[in-house]
Amino acid sequence: MTDSIKHPSLATLLVHGGRDALARDEPVASPLYQSVNFQHPVGTAEGMRYPRYGNNPTAELVQRRLALLEGAEAGLVLASGQGATACALLALLRAGDHLLSSSWIYGGTHQLVAKELPAMGIATTLVDPTESRGWRRRLRKTTRAIFLETPVNPTGRVLDLKPVTMLAKELGLALVVDSTFATPVAFRPIEHGADVVIHSATKFLNGHHDVIAGAVLGTAAYIEEVRQKMIVWGQAPDPFACWLLERGLKTLDVRVKRATENTMRVALWCATRPELSAVLYPGLPSHPDHEIALATLDGMGAMMAIVHRGGGEAITKMLRRLELITHAPSLGGVDTLVSEPRFSSHDHLSPEERAALGVPDGFLRISVGIEDPDDIIADLDHALRG
Ligand SMILES: *Cc1c(COP(=O)(O)O)cnc(C)c1O
Repeated sequence: MTDSIKHPSLATLLVHGGRDALARDEPVASPLYQSVNFQHPVGTAEGMRYPRYGNNPTAELVQRRLALLEGAEAGLVLASGQGATACALLALLRAGDHLLSSSWIYGGTHQLVAKELPAMGIATTLVDPTESRGWRRRLRKTTRAIFLETPVNPTGRVLDLKPVTMLAKELGLALVVDSTFATPVAFRPIEHGADVVIHSATKFLNGHHDVIAGAVLGTAAYIEEVRQKMIVWGQAPDPFACWLLERGLKTLDVRVKRATENTMRVALWCATRPELSAVLYPGLPSHPDHEIALATLDGMGAMMAIVHRGGGEAITKMLRRLELITHAPSLGGVDTLVSEPRFSSHDHLSPEERAALGVPDGFLRISVGIEDPDDIIADLDHALRG
């Protein structure tokens, strides 16, 4: 980036990472190469550019930046977080291999691990990540990789990577971490021993509710394998999505920090409300993973949840009274959004099964945005009084 700053900090990398110092007359905003085709030298296959190959210059810039942010050798941006997870796992596993996966994973990932991979001859086992020695006990001779997500949706559970990393290193398994909820501002899994990092860039990385994209970070050799899967399965992103993502990344540090401050305020306020039986936020001492979150995360993030004593009916009534906060299934953007897992990620389960997973009816996930926290609280207050 520059010669004068040898070790630029994360906030600086977010703005400048992957771009050389600007030459005379170069635009400050990075150019959008909204082009599918590029002139190609005659008589060689070298250096052919085509967006499906992940080498449109706009994609390449955001890929370089994300790799710097995560401390990875290389990165790849894909059409969605789901596309990123699918290609990342397909690049690691062949028919006959076995995958250990945390059972606390995003719904789309669960579908991939529980249905699609087994249909391709890849065996998978879901593991409760808090079970002592749970990973080791389910190992097979054919186990090749471990997949987990932390912090976990929607309960905010934070996993300790240390024992998993030790196991993966001991046996030469690839450790793959979906770090969507943390973002590199709060947690960089490679620094903690992970081999592969996955993001749904649709969430915090872009942060403005207007891009669908995903990312995979890892060694250059591995990312090349993921790229081959992306090319064949058609999971490359559009250049404009990459351009919006690059722009969104510039403010990631300030957005995450502001949203995190807001979330602490909202969580503390919710903890005083008699209507609520639980407030789940790793930043609260009452959260089961508060200590591990303090020890491993640089910030507690902007995802929290509440449980209403009145159950699902009370939450429905509350949601109808919200005016500022929007009921919408996604997360990680500048607007505060709320969603009920019983109608989204957990709708295929019975109320009893949901309660067993820590998501009883009356549970509401809140993705806190960057609005004024007093206004967010006023909206919740008005809705709860309904
Ligand atoms: C949303 C999400 C995904 C899937 O990402 P898309 O961009 O919607 O495809 C994967 N993992 C986590 C943790 C998510 O929140």
